[in-house]
Amino acid sequence: MPEAVEQLLLPAECLLCRALLSFADSSRLVCDVCRHRWRPVRPPWCARCGQPEPLFGRCRLCAEWPAAFGPVRSAVWLDAGAREAVHALKYAGLPRIATELAGAMAGLEVPGIDSAWLVPVPLGRARLRTRGYNQSERLARALGRRWRRPVVDLLIRTRDTAAQTALTPEARLANVAGAFGMRNFETRNAEGGTRNRRPDDRSAFRRPLVLVDDVFTTGATLAEAARALDQAGARMVSAVTFGRAVVPDFT
Ligand SMILES: [Zn+2]
Ligand SMILES: [Zn+2]
Repeated sequence: MPEAVEQLLLPAECLLCRALLSFADSSRLVCDVCRHRWRPVRPPWCARCGQPEPLFGRCRLCAEWPAAFGPVRSAVWLDAGAREAVHALKYAGLPRIATELAGAMAGLEVPGIDSAWLVPVPLGRARLRTRGYNQSERLARALGRRWRRPVVDLLIRTRDTAAQTALTPEARLANVAGAFGMRNFETRNAEGGTRNRRPDDRSAFRRPLVLVDDVFTTGATLAEAARALDQAGARMVSAVTFGRAVVPDFT
């Protein structure tokens, strides 16, 4: 059934809890109750990675990050309600929910946003094939509409990486090492032939780049994506995510 017809015929319901939405809210996808269950990430936090400040010493989470990378900010803690929303975005085939997630991210503050490009964290080819879309790209596009900033696919995954879920922070870093590269853009030259080239380094990399991903766990994936941009000459790379996992204590 086409979406417009469906909206006319069926009462709108919350994608997460299935409660009926009031007429005034019928264009929304997530009800107020579900949205209010999302718990915002608030300071005090590490100025760079956005993780709650350690009680002693300096933050270890972001100590090894590339120099050009930071800050990273996340909208909400990934507990029950937010986890369901990310699950819907990734596994329930509901990319439309990206609009709601981007709504929660719209207030995040990263420097240079007025001239920034948003860069989605790319998926590996195999995962893109099974899912049919890249959830980070959907999120970046929804956020781009809120912030009125362009979304530019600068990165590719050079290999599929194992799921990070069961790994320690150190193993996560090793797992994603070298997993990202710059996308080559095919352009047509004056003779009609094609050649591969990278996006014009001077214009792309002079401006601030903001990586967009669904969840921040240890930051290993984002830091590795930032490393690829850094090596290509980017001057300023920050990142935003919808959720932030409560990091299990590995020490
Ligand atoms: Zn709901
Ligand atoms: Zn930190």
